[in-house]
Amino acid sequence: MMDKAKRNSSGVYGGECQCGRIAYEINGEPIVLYACHCTDCQRQSASAFGLSLWVHRDQFSLTKGEPCFWQTLAESGNSKLCAFCGVCGSRVYHAEDHQSGILSLKAGLLGGIRDLRPVAHLWLRSAQPWINIDGHQFLTFEKEPDDYDPLIKRWQQKERPLDLKNLD
Ligand SMILES: [Zn+2]
Ligand SMILES: [Zn+2]
Repeated sequence: MMDKAKRNSSGVYGGECQCGRIAYEINGEPIVLYACHCTDCQRQSASAFGLSLWVHRDQFSLTKGEPCFWQTLAESGNSKLCAFCGVCGSRVYHAEDHQSGILSLKAGLLGGIRDLRPVAHLWLRSAQPWINIDGHQFLTFEKEPDDYDPLIKRWQQKERPLDLKNLD
C-alpha cells in the first residue's frame, strides 16, 4: 500500500478501493475492530472472513470518488446499507442507513490495517473448519454478541496501539 493510505502524524487513517477510484480518510479514533466469520461476510469479502472497523460517520470523509449502494438484510433481520466501488466492486463500508452515525468499514481497504489488531472473532460457528482461534488472545462468539460494549472496552483498554492513547 502507498504511504498516503497509512496513518500519518496528524492521526489520519486512509483507505482506498482496489482500483483506486474511491479513497477516504478517518480523522479520529476508530471504535472497535473485529473479525466476522458469518456467511454474509464470507460472501461479501469473497474470502474466509470479514474485518469490520467501526468509525464515527462524522470522522469519515471521502477524498476521492463516490460509492454505489445496495441494501440487504443482516443476519439479525435489520436492514443493511452496503457501500461499494461501482468499478472494481470493493466493499467500502456497511451502515444501517444513510443517516446512521456509525459506519462499519471493510477494513482490508485500509492502508494501515497491519498496525491494528482485532479484539474479537464473531460467528465462529460458521468459520471455515481450518480457522483456529486462540481464545486467550481474542473475545470469541459462536454467533453475534448481544452486546458490543465488551468488545469496545477491550479495544479501548488493551488493543489500542500506544500512539493512539494520547489523541483524545
Ligand atoms: Zn474501485
Ligand atoms: Zn459477518
